[in-house]
Amino acid sequence: MPRIATITALEILDSRGNPTLRARVTLDDGAIGVASVPSGASTGENEACERRDNDPARYGGKGVRGAVRAVADTIAPSLRGADPFAQPAIDAALIALDGTADKSRLGANAILGVSMAVARAAASSCRRPLYAYLGGANACRLPVPMMNVINGGAHADNSLDFQEFMIVPHGAPRFAEALRYGAETFHALRALLKQRGLPTSVGDEGGFAPNLPGHEAALDLIVEAIRAAGLRPGPDVAIALDPAASGFAVADGYDLRRSGGGRKTSDEMTAMYARWLDAYPIVSLEDGLGEHDWEGFRRHTEALGGRIQIVGDDNYVTNPKFIARGITEHTTNAALIKLNQIGTVTETVAAVRMCQEAGWRTVVSHRSGETEDAFIADFAVAMGSGQIKTGSLCRGERIAKYNRLLEIEQELGEAAVFTNPFLRTSAR
Ligand code: PGA
Ligand code: ZN
Repeated sequence: MPRIATITALEILDSRGNPTLRARVTLDDGAIGVASVPSGASTGENEACERRDNDPARYGGKGVRGAVRAVADTIAPSLRGADPFAQPAIDAALIALDGTADKSRLGANAILGVSMAVARAAASSCRRPLYAYLGGANACRLPVPMMNVINGGAHADNSLDFQEFMIVPHGAPRFAEALRYGAETFHALRALLKQRGLPTSVGDEGGFAPNLPGHEAALDLIVEAIRAAGLRPGPDVAIALDPAASGFAVADGYDLRRSGGGRKTSDEMTAMYARWLDAYPIVSLEDGLGEHDWEGFRRHTEALGGRIQIVGDDNYVTNPKFIARGITEHTTNAALIKLNQIGTVTETVAAVRMCQEAGWRTVVSHRSGETEDAFIADFAVAMGSGQIKTGSLCRGERIAKYNRLLEIEQELGEAAVFTNPFLRTSAR
Protein backbone atom coordinates (compact mmCIF):
# COMPACT_ATOMS: atom_id res chain seq x y z
CA MET A 1 0.00 0.00 0.00
CA PRO A 2 1.57 3.32 -1.03
CA ARG A 3 2.06 5.98 1.63
CA ILE A 4 2.54 9.74 1.55
CA ALA A 5 6.28 10.49 1.30
CA THR A 6 6.61 14.28 0.92
CA ILE A 7 4.35 17.33 0.92
CA THR A 8 5.66 20.70 -0.26
CA ALA A 9 4.10 24.00 -1.29
CA LEU A 10 5.04 26.92 -3.47
CA GLU A 11 3.84 30.52 -3.72
CA ILE A 12 2.69 31.00 -7.33
CA LEU A 13 0.56 33.65 -9.08
CA ASP A 14 -3.12 33.47 -9.97
CA SER A 15 -4.82 34.86 -13.07
CA ARG A 16 -5.01 38.35 -11.52
CA GLY A 17 -1.32 38.38 -10.70
CA ASN A 18 -1.90 37.79 -6.99
CA PRO A 19 -0.06 35.12 -5.02
CA THR A 20 -1.71 31.78 -4.39
CA LEU A 21 -0.57 28.39 -3.19
CA ARG A 22 0.42 25.28 -5.14
CA ALA A 23 0.85 22.03 -3.21
CA ARG A 24 2.78 18.95 -4.29
CA VAL A 25 2.39 15.53 -2.75
CA THR A 26 4.60 12.55 -3.54
CA LEU A 27 3.96 8.94 -2.57
CA ASP A 28 6.57 6.32 -1.81
CA ASP A 29 5.59 4.45 -4.99
CA GLY A 30 6.69 7.48 -7.04
CA ALA A 31 3.22 8.90 -7.77
CA ILE A 32 2.95 12.70 -7.72
CA GLY A 33 -0.05 15.00 -7.22
CA VAL A 34 0.05 18.75 -7.77
CA ALA A 35 -2.83 21.18 -7.17
CA SER A 36 -3.26 24.97 -7.16
CA VAL A 37 -5.76 26.94 -5.10
CA PRO A 38 -8.03 29.63 -6.62
CA SER A 39 -9.13 32.87 -4.96
CA GLY A 40 -12.39 34.87 -5.07
CA ALA A 41 -13.11 38.61 -5.22
CA SER A 42 -16.78 38.67 -4.23
CA THR A 43 -16.41 36.31 -1.31
CA GLY A 44 -19.17 35.28 1.07
CA GLU A 45 -18.66 36.38 4.67
CA ASN A 46 -18.60 32.84 6.01
CA GLU A 47 -16.05 31.37 3.61
CA ALA A 48 -13.11 29.42 4.99
CA CYS A 49 -10.24 31.81 5.61
CA GLU A 50 -7.59 32.08 2.93
CA ARG A 51 -4.37 32.89 4.80
CA ARG A 52 -2.41 35.92 3.55
CA ASP A 53 0.82 37.31 4.99
CA ASN A 54 -0.44 40.91 5.34
CA ASP A 55 3.16 42.03 4.86
CA PRO A 56 2.88 45.33 2.95
CA ALA A 57 6.44 44.87 1.66
CA ARG A 58 5.40 41.95 -0.53
CA TYR A 59 2.54 41.78 -3.07
CA GLY A 60 0.57 44.47 -1.25
CA GLY A 61 0.16 42.15 1.73
CA LYS A 62 -1.25 39.31 -0.39
CA GLY A 63 1.75 36.96 -0.12
CA VAL A 64 1.07 33.40 1.02
CA ARG A 65 4.46 32.50 2.50
CA GLY A 66 2.82 31.80 5.87
CA ALA A 67 0.48 29.26 4.25
CA VAL A 68 3.44 27.71 2.41
CA ARG A 69 5.29 27.43 5.74
CA ALA A 70 2.22 25.83 7.35
CA VAL A 71 2.40 23.10 4.71
CA ALA A 72 6.12 22.52 5.25
CA ASP A 73 6.26 22.84 9.04
CA THR A 74 2.94 21.49 10.26
CA ILE A 75 1.08 19.54 7.57
CA ALA A 76 3.98 17.66 5.94
CA PRO A 77 5.42 16.12 9.13
CA SER A 78 2.04 14.99 10.43
CA LEU A 79 0.78 13.44 7.18
CA ARG A 80 4.02 11.67 6.27
CA GLY A 81 3.30 7.93 6.08
CA ALA A 82 -0.48 8.44 5.84
CA ASP A 83 -2.68 6.45 3.45
CA PRO A 84 -3.35 8.66 0.40
CA PHE A 85 -6.46 6.66 -0.50
CA ALA A 86 -8.15 7.58 2.77
CA GLN A 87 -9.25 11.04 1.60
CA PRO A 88 -11.84 11.52 4.40
CA ALA A 89 -9.20 10.63 7.03
CA ILE A 90 -6.62 12.93 5.40
CA ASP A 91 -9.11 15.79 5.39
CA ALA A 92 -10.22 15.09 8.96
CA ALA A 93 -6.55 15.19 10.01
CA LEU A 94 -6.07 18.53 8.23
CA ILE A 95 -9.15 19.98 9.96
CA ALA A 96 -7.96 18.71 13.35
CA LEU A 97 -4.43 20.04 12.82
CA ASP A 98 -5.85 23.47 12.06
CA GLY A 99 -8.28 23.40 14.96
CA THR A 100 -10.30 26.51 14.01
CA ALA A 101 -13.83 26.68 12.59
CA ASP A 102 -12.77 28.76 9.59
CA LYS A 103 -9.39 27.11 8.89
CA SER A 104 -7.62 30.37 9.65
CA ARG A 105 -4.69 28.95 11.64
CA LEU A 106 -3.01 26.95 8.88
CA GLY A 107 -5.03 28.69 6.18
CA ALA A 108 -7.78 27.25 4.00
CA ASN A 109 -5.44 27.75 1.04
CA ALA A 110 -2.77 25.53 2.64
CA ILE A 111 -5.36 22.91 3.63
CA LEU A 112 -7.22 22.78 0.30
CA GLY A 113 -4.00 22.68 -1.73
CA VAL A 114 -2.86 19.59 0.17
CA SER A 115 -6.32 18.01 0.13
CA MET A 116 -6.55 18.27 -3.68
CA ALA A 117 -2.93 17.24 -4.25
CA VAL A 118 -3.43 14.09 -2.15
CA ALA A 119 -6.46 13.16 -4.30
CA ARG A 120 -4.39 13.67 -7.45
CA ALA A 121 -1.47 11.62 -6.11
CA ALA A 122 -3.82 8.78 -5.14
CA ALA A 123 -5.48 8.85 -8.59
CA SER A 124 -2.09 8.78 -10.24
CA SER A 125 -0.90 5.93 -8.02
CA CYS A 126 -3.79 3.71 -9.14
CA ARG A 127 -3.48 4.99 -12.72
CA ARG A 128 -6.97 6.38 -12.90
CA PRO A 129 -8.08 9.75 -14.18
CA LEU A 130 -9.06 12.07 -11.32
CA TYR A 131 -12.78 12.09 -12.23
CA ALA A 132 -12.90 8.27 -12.15
CA TYR A 133 -10.90 8.06 -8.92
CA LEU A 134 -13.18 10.53 -7.12
CA GLY A 135 -16.44 9.54 -8.79
CA GLY A 136 -16.21 5.83 -9.47
CA ALA A 137 -17.54 3.91 -12.44
CA ASN A 138 -20.66 6.06 -12.74
CA ALA A 139 -18.73 9.28 -13.27
CA CYS A 140 -19.65 9.76 -16.89
CA ARG A 141 -21.84 12.88 -16.98
CA LEU A 142 -20.30 15.94 -18.61
CA PRO A 143 -21.56 19.21 -17.13
CA VAL A 144 -23.50 21.84 -19.05
CA PRO A 145 -21.31 24.96 -18.90
CA MET A 146 -22.47 28.39 -17.75
CA MET A 147 -20.19 30.77 -19.62
CA ASN A 148 -19.73 34.27 -18.30
CA VAL A 149 -19.63 36.47 -21.41
CA ILE A 150 -20.41 39.88 -19.88
CA ASN A 151 -18.67 40.82 -16.63
CA GLY A 152 -19.61 43.58 -14.20
CA GLY A 153 -19.74 44.11 -10.44
CA ALA A 154 -16.56 43.18 -8.58
CA HIS A 155 -15.04 41.66 -11.72
CA ALA A 156 -14.94 44.80 -13.90
CA ASP A 157 -14.89 48.60 -13.70
CA ASN A 158 -17.91 49.29 -15.89
CA SER A 159 -21.50 50.49 -15.52
CA LEU A 160 -22.96 47.12 -14.52
CA ASP A 161 -23.91 46.33 -10.92
CA PHE A 162 -24.52 42.72 -11.87
CA GLN A 163 -21.42 40.56 -11.86
CA GLU A 164 -22.12 37.82 -14.41
CA PHE A 165 -24.20 37.47 -17.56
CA MET A 166 -23.75 33.88 -18.72
CA ILE A 167 -24.73 31.84 -21.74
CA VAL A 168 -25.85 28.24 -21.24
CA PRO A 169 -25.56 26.08 -24.37
CA HIS A 170 -27.81 23.41 -22.91
CA GLY A 171 -29.41 22.40 -26.22
CA ALA A 172 -26.18 20.93 -27.59
CA PRO A 173 -26.01 17.18 -28.09
CA ARG A 174 -22.69 16.81 -26.26
CA PHE A 175 -20.11 18.83 -24.37
CA ALA A 176 -17.83 19.52 -27.33
CA GLU A 177 -20.77 20.97 -29.25
CA ALA A 178 -21.86 23.02 -26.24
CA LEU A 179 -18.38 24.49 -26.15
CA ARG A 180 -18.64 25.37 -29.84
CA TYR A 181 -22.07 27.01 -29.36
CA GLY A 182 -20.57 29.03 -26.54
CA ALA A 183 -17.43 30.08 -28.40
CA GLU A 184 -19.37 31.02 -31.53
CA THR A 185 -21.80 33.12 -29.49
CA PHE A 186 -18.86 34.76 -27.72
CA HIS A 187 -17.29 35.70 -31.06
CA ALA A 188 -20.63 36.99 -32.37
CA LEU A 189 -20.95 39.12 -29.24
CA ARG A 190 -17.47 40.54 -29.81
CA ALA A 191 -18.44 41.50 -33.38
CA LEU A 192 -21.63 43.19 -32.14
CA LEU A 193 -19.70 45.23 -29.57
CA LYS A 194 -17.17 46.27 -32.21
CA GLN A 195 -19.92 47.29 -34.60
CA ARG A 196 -21.33 49.59 -31.91
CA GLY A 197 -18.00 51.10 -31.06
CA LEU A 198 -17.96 49.48 -27.63
CA PRO A 199 -14.74 48.14 -26.09
CA THR A 200 -14.02 44.41 -26.37
CA SER A 201 -11.58 44.30 -23.46
CA VAL A 202 -12.40 41.61 -20.93
CA GLY A 203 -12.94 41.35 -17.18
CA ASP A 204 -11.50 38.92 -14.64
CA GLU A 205 -13.38 35.90 -15.93
CA GLY A 206 -12.84 36.65 -19.60
CA GLY A 207 -16.23 38.18 -20.36
CA PHE A 208 -16.55 41.53 -22.10
CA ALA A 209 -16.91 44.49 -19.77
CA PRO A 210 -18.51 47.31 -21.77
CA ASN A 211 -20.29 50.32 -20.34
CA LEU A 212 -23.93 49.66 -21.18
CA PRO A 213 -26.99 51.77 -20.35
CA GLY A 214 -28.32 49.04 -18.05
CA HIS A 215 -28.70 45.35 -17.35
CA GLU A 216 -31.45 44.86 -19.95
CA ALA A 217 -29.06 46.18 -22.59
CA ALA A 218 -26.64 43.38 -21.66
CA LEU A 219 -29.43 40.80 -21.94
CA ASP A 220 -30.53 42.22 -25.32
CA LEU A 221 -26.97 42.05 -26.63
CA ILE A 222 -26.59 38.42 -25.58
CA VAL A 223 -29.86 37.40 -27.25
CA GLU A 224 -28.72 39.17 -30.41
CA ALA A 225 -25.34 37.45 -30.29
CA ILE A 226 -26.93 34.01 -29.94
CA ARG A 227 -29.04 34.73 -33.05
CA ALA A 228 -26.05 36.15 -34.94
CA ALA A 229 -24.21 32.88 -34.23
CA GLY A 230 -27.02 31.05 -36.03
CA LEU A 231 -28.38 29.54 -32.80
CA ARG A 232 -31.81 29.77 -31.16
CA PRO A 233 -31.99 31.86 -27.97
CA GLY A 234 -33.76 29.53 -25.53
CA PRO A 235 -33.73 26.04 -27.01
CA ASP A 236 -30.04 26.07 -28.05
CA VAL A 237 -28.46 28.67 -25.81
CA ALA A 238 -30.14 30.12 -22.73
CA ILE A 239 -29.06 32.76 -20.23
CA ALA A 240 -27.95 32.49 -16.58
CA LEU A 241 -27.33 35.42 -14.26
CA ASP A 242 -25.20 35.88 -11.18
CA PRO A 243 -25.96 39.43 -10.00
CA ALA A 244 -23.86 38.65 -6.87
CA ALA A 245 -26.28 40.92 -5.02
CA SER A 246 -24.33 40.90 -1.73
CA GLY A 247 -22.04 43.31 -3.58
CA PHE A 248 -24.71 46.02 -3.87
CA ALA A 249 -26.84 45.19 -0.85
CA VAL A 250 -27.47 48.13 1.53
CA ALA A 251 -29.16 48.25 4.93
CA ASP A 252 -32.73 48.41 3.58
CA GLY A 253 -32.41 46.71 0.21
CA TYR A 254 -30.28 46.99 -2.92
CA ASP A 255 -28.62 49.99 -4.53
CA LEU A 256 -28.11 49.65 -8.29
CA ARG A 257 -25.88 52.70 -8.38
CA ARG A 258 -23.51 51.84 -11.22
CA SER A 259 -26.26 51.11 -13.73
CA GLY A 260 -28.44 54.00 -12.52
CA GLY A 261 -31.18 51.56 -11.51
CA GLY A 262 -31.77 53.22 -8.13
CA ARG A 263 -32.70 51.59 -4.85
CA LYS A 264 -34.92 48.55 -4.65
CA THR A 265 -36.34 46.41 -1.88
CA SER A 266 -35.85 42.68 -1.91
CA ASP A 267 -39.37 42.13 -3.32
CA GLU A 268 -38.84 44.80 -5.98
CA MET A 269 -35.69 42.97 -7.09
CA THR A 270 -37.68 39.74 -7.34
CA ALA A 271 -40.43 41.51 -9.31
CA MET A 272 -37.80 42.84 -11.73
CA TYR A 273 -36.38 39.34 -12.26
CA ALA A 274 -39.91 38.00 -12.80
CA ARG A 275 -40.43 40.53 -15.61
CA TRP A 276 -37.15 39.45 -17.19
CA LEU A 277 -38.22 35.80 -17.14
CA ASP A 278 -41.06 36.78 -19.48
CA ALA A 279 -38.77 38.70 -21.82
CA TYR A 280 -35.55 36.65 -21.90
CA PRO A 281 -34.64 32.94 -22.05
CA ILE A 282 -33.25 32.86 -18.51
CA VAL A 283 -32.88 29.40 -16.92
CA SER A 284 -30.81 30.13 -13.82
CA LEU A 285 -30.41 32.99 -11.33
CA GLU A 286 -27.65 32.93 -8.69
CA ASP A 287 -27.37 35.32 -5.74
CA GLY A 288 -30.22 37.47 -7.06
CA LEU A 289 -30.41 38.74 -3.47
CA GLY A 290 -27.76 39.27 -0.79
CA GLU A 291 -26.28 36.67 1.53
CA HIS A 292 -28.11 37.93 4.64
CA ASP A 293 -31.53 38.19 2.99
CA TRP A 294 -32.77 34.70 3.94
CA GLU A 295 -36.41 35.76 4.20
CA GLY A 296 -36.26 37.70 0.92
CA PHE A 297 -34.73 34.62 -0.69
CA ARG A 298 -37.55 32.42 0.56
CA ARG A 299 -40.12 34.66 -1.14
CA HIS A 300 -37.86 34.97 -4.19
CA THR A 301 -37.70 31.18 -4.59
CA GLU A 302 -41.41 30.85 -3.89
CA ALA A 303 -42.08 33.33 -6.73
CA LEU A 304 -39.48 32.19 -9.27
CA GLY A 305 -38.31 28.72 -8.24
CA GLY A 306 -41.06 26.93 -10.17
CA ARG A 307 -39.85 28.55 -13.37
CA ILE A 308 -36.08 28.62 -13.10
CA GLN A 309 -33.11 27.37 -11.11
CA ILE A 310 -32.37 29.57 -8.10
CA VAL A 311 -28.75 29.15 -6.99
CA GLY A 312 -27.25 30.16 -3.64
CA ASP A 313 -23.56 31.03 -3.47
CA ASP A 314 -22.59 33.67 -0.88
CA ASN A 315 -25.29 32.52 1.55
CA TYR A 316 -24.15 28.86 1.60
CA VAL A 317 -20.39 29.12 0.92
CA THR A 318 -20.41 25.37 0.13
CA ASN A 319 -20.93 24.74 3.84
CA PRO A 320 -23.29 21.87 4.76
CA LYS A 321 -24.37 23.86 7.83
CA PHE A 322 -25.78 26.73 5.74
CA ILE A 323 -27.01 24.47 2.93
CA ALA A 324 -29.02 22.51 5.52
CA ARG A 325 -30.69 25.75 6.61
CA GLY A 326 -31.43 26.58 2.97
CA ILE A 327 -33.02 23.19 2.40
CA THR A 328 -35.20 23.51 5.51
CA GLU A 329 -36.27 27.07 4.74
CA HIS A 330 -36.68 26.62 0.95
CA THR A 331 -34.20 29.43 0.40
CA THR A 332 -33.20 28.33 -3.12
CA ASN A 333 -33.45 25.15 -5.20
CA ALA A 334 -29.76 24.80 -6.09
CA ALA A 335 -26.29 25.60 -4.74
CA LEU A 336 -23.01 26.78 -6.15
CA ILE A 337 -20.09 24.54 -5.17
CA LYS A 338 -16.60 25.98 -4.68
CA LEU A 339 -13.89 23.86 -3.07
CA ASN A 340 -12.08 26.83 -1.59
CA GLN A 341 -15.17 28.19 0.17
CA ILE A 342 -15.14 25.22 2.53
CA GLY A 343 -11.53 24.07 2.22
CA THR A 344 -11.29 20.30 1.76
CA VAL A 345 -12.32 17.81 -0.92
CA THR A 346 -14.28 15.67 1.56
CA GLU A 347 -16.38 18.55 2.89
CA THR A 348 -17.11 19.68 -0.67
CA VAL A 349 -18.29 16.19 -1.58
CA ALA A 350 -20.53 16.24 1.53
CA ALA A 351 -22.03 19.57 0.43
CA VAL A 352 -22.80 18.19 -3.05
CA ARG A 353 -24.33 15.00 -1.63
CA MET A 354 -26.51 16.97 0.77
CA CYS A 355 -27.87 19.01 -2.15
CA GLN A 356 -28.45 15.97 -4.31
CA GLU A 357 -30.32 14.15 -1.56
CA ALA A 358 -32.61 17.16 -1.16
CA GLY A 359 -33.35 17.16 -4.89
CA TRP A 360 -31.29 20.30 -5.43
CA ARG A 361 -29.09 20.92 -8.43
CA THR A 362 -25.43 21.81 -7.98
CA VAL A 363 -23.13 23.97 -10.09
CA VAL A 364 -19.41 23.31 -9.61
CA SER A 365 -17.63 26.65 -9.91
CA HIS A 366 -14.28 28.33 -10.48
CA ARG A 367 -13.26 31.56 -8.70
CA SER A 368 -12.54 34.88 -10.35
CA GLY A 369 -8.86 34.42 -9.42
CA GLU A 370 -7.92 31.11 -11.05
CA THR A 371 -4.90 29.11 -12.14
CA GLU A 372 -4.27 26.65 -14.96
CA ASP A 373 -5.32 23.85 -12.61
CA ALA A 374 -8.42 22.13 -14.03
CA PHE A 375 -9.32 20.17 -10.87
CA ILE A 376 -12.95 21.40 -11.01
CA ALA A 377 -13.47 19.89 -14.47
CA ASP A 378 -12.73 16.42 -13.10
CA PHE A 379 -14.62 17.21 -9.91
CA ALA A 380 -17.80 18.21 -11.78
CA VAL A 381 -17.77 14.90 -13.68
CA ALA A 382 -16.93 12.93 -10.53
CA MET A 383 -19.92 14.42 -8.69
CA GLY A 384 -22.32 14.04 -11.62
CA SER A 385 -23.08 17.66 -10.90
CA GLY A 386 -24.53 18.32 -14.35
CA GLN A 387 -23.40 21.96 -14.44
CA ILE A 388 -20.12 23.86 -14.30
CA LYS A 389 -19.44 27.57 -14.15
CA THR A 390 -15.94 28.31 -15.32
CA GLY A 391 -15.88 31.60 -17.15
CA SER A 392 -15.81 32.92 -20.63
CA LEU A 393 -14.41 31.63 -23.90
CA CYS A 394 -11.02 33.27 -23.55
CA ARG A 395 -8.24 33.50 -20.94
CA GLY A 396 -6.11 30.39 -20.53
CA GLU A 397 -7.09 29.69 -16.93
CA ARG A 398 -10.78 29.44 -17.98
CA ILE A 399 -10.11 27.50 -21.19
CA ALA A 400 -7.97 24.97 -19.25
CA LYS A 401 -11.18 23.67 -17.63
CA TYR A 402 -13.06 23.44 -20.93
CA ASN A 403 -10.14 21.70 -22.61
CA ARG A 404 -9.95 19.19 -19.77
CA LEU A 405 -13.69 18.47 -20.18
CA LEU A 406 -13.09 17.84 -23.90
CA GLU A 407 -10.43 15.30 -22.98
CA ILE A 408 -12.73 13.61 -20.48
CA GLU A 409 -15.55 13.43 -23.03
CA GLN A 410 -13.23 11.85 -25.57
CA GLU A 411 -11.82 9.42 -23.03
CA LEU A 412 -15.31 8.31 -21.93
CA GLY A 413 -16.33 7.80 -25.55
CA GLU A 414 -19.67 6.03 -25.81
CA ALA A 415 -20.09 6.12 -22.04
CA ALA A 416 -20.15 9.94 -21.94
CA VAL A 417 -23.52 11.45 -21.00
CA PHE A 418 -24.59 15.04 -21.65
CA THR A 419 -28.00 15.54 -20.10
CA ASN A 420 -29.85 18.83 -20.29
CA PRO A 421 -30.84 19.94 -16.78
CA PHE A 422 -33.03 22.73 -18.19
CA LEU A 423 -35.40 20.82 -20.47
CA ARG A 424 -38.46 21.90 -18.56
CA THR A 425 -37.53 25.50 -17.90
CA SER A 426 -36.36 26.21 -21.45
CA ALA A 427 -39.37 24.73 -23.23
CA ARG A 428 -41.11 28.10 -23.40
P1 PGA B 1 -15.62 35.28 -6.93
O1 PGA B 1 -17.00 35.32 -7.72
O2 PGA B 1 -14.86 34.10 -7.36
O3 PGA B 1 -14.98 36.59 -7.28
O4 PGA B 1 -15.99 35.24 -5.47
C1 PGA B 1 -17.63 34.19 -8.23
C2 PGA B 1 -19.09 34.15 -7.89
O5 PGA B 1 -19.63 35.05 -7.22
O6 PGA B 1 -19.75 33.19 -8.27
ZN1 ZN C 1 -21.69 33.88 -7.31
